Amino acid sequence: RKNSEAVEVAGRAKEPEPESSGNPDVHQDFGDDPLEVRTTDHYTEEYVTGFVDKWDELIDWKARSESEGTFFVEQLKKHGVRKVLDVATGTGFHSVRLLEEGFETVSADGSPQMLAKAFENGVKHGGHILRVVNADWRWLNRDVHGEYDAIVCLGNSFTHLFTERDRRKALAEFYAMLKHDGILILDQRNYDSILDQGFSSKHTYYYCGEDVSAVPEHVDDGLARFRYNFADGSEYHLNMYPLRKNYVRRLMREVGFQRIETYGDFQQTYREDEPDFFIHVAEKR
Ligand code: SAM
Repeated sequence: RKNSEAVEVAGRAKEPEPESSGNPDVHQDFGDDPLEVRTTDHYTEEYVTGFVDKWDELIDWKARSESEGTFFVEQLKKHGVRKVLDVATGTGFHSVRLLEEGFETVSADGSPQMLAKAFENGVKHGGHILRVVNADWRWLNRDVHGEYDAIVCLGNSFTHLFTERDRRKALAEFYAMLKHDGILILDQRNYDSILDQGFSSKHTYYYCGEDVSAVPEHVDDGLARFRYNFADGSEYHLNMYPLRKNYVRRLMREVGFQRIETYGDFQQTYREDEPDFFIHVAEKR
């Protein structure tokens, strides 16, 4: 039921929409005071199909896979992983990559719009039929069954959780779904450098040349609000929680992960302020 609803939503949004229509599938709604939107539940409204379609049109999957290289695949192989749960499927980039590499993969996400797009992308990129499950991390065990060798939560997704309680609950749900020797791979933007170095570090991140730019428009201890501009003049925002690297590592340890290795932009050694992204590989055993 959920999946067929999601497909309908994605199909409908492809019709041209007048700017003033206020269609919630196409236009984001942050209300009168966007800086006050600091709730975990809001993520489903931020990934409107207009934003998702635009992003995916422009971010070339081939280029993304070249910049990532074999980092995640190697990590998974190194740990003898066969069965993976992608908990932040988004438009399906990593799920499709994992299927191509022969991993048994289940693709979960809390946004039905995202899953509809991911399913469509799986068919488009190599005829893969994704096993999609609409599930929020906070109640993951209710909706996804089985045990996994690895869980991946990638593309700066964990940042959407706005309370410590939600972060602990999500990590505990991930931990419970892993086999006794399973691993969690979770990445995050380097918010430490944005928080500590103030405005100078609020540089613009460009994707695909200058077709998409991302700028931290507002940053305080409890909110990083990014603005995304596209070449056709359209503009979208995401409100995220600025996670500090060591805070995430601590939470992982506290829910029970035994060993956490953190990489900076896919490297083991790095200067703290240099990488754009940190990748945590947490072992349960
Ligand atoms: N991993 C994909 C990528 O790298 O392209 C998508 C990343 S996107 C930034 C974040 C994804 O996390 C969205 O698809 C969103 O719906 C999902 N998400 C955010 N909070 C969630 C939650 N509490 N439960 C389940 N999914 C969530």
